[in-house]
Amino acid sequence: MGAHHQRHGGAAAAFRWSVLLNALLTGAQLAIGFGFGSLALIGDAIHNLGDVVGLLLAWGAERLSLRPARGRFTYGY
Ligand SMILES: [Zn+2]
Repeated sequence: MGAHHQRHGGAAAAFRWSVLLNALLTGAQLAIGFGFGSLALIGDAIHNLGDVVGLLLAWGAERLSLRPARGRFTYGY
């Protein structure tokens, strides 16, 4: 269990920071993009929003993979 947790130890912090920074970037790009009427910034903000969604999905999958094997899922997830 110790080794297992060590292997995934940095992942949660990495996901947390990645989601936080990408969400902040998305918000700033949207605010500035709309403020200055920049379609390029708004378009990149939407791209980064997609990145945030992808990171959240990966974070959820990472958490599922930490569930122990039991019952029907003899290998875990
Ligand atoms: Zn991207």
